[in-house]
Amino acid sequence: MPTYVYKCPKCGKFDFYQNINDKPLVNCPKCDSEVKKLISGGAGVIYKTDGFYITDSKKNKDTAAS
Ligand SMILES: [Zn+2]
Repeated sequence: MPTYVYKCPKCGKFDFYQNINDKPLVNCPKCDSEVKKLISGGAGVIYKTDGFYITDSKKNKDTAAS
């Protein structure tokens, strides 16, 4: 099953599983904010990437906390 990674301005980055033929997610399922699609691909790829994503998600947490 393809994993799509979206970024929500409020919730940060999240994975969303959907069919390859489904329309891309437009609004966050949690808060209904407009989301951006970051990447789509095989399972687990996103977790093996380097500091770019780690830094990015850290930034999101800081933003959410404040
Ligand atoms: Zn959200």
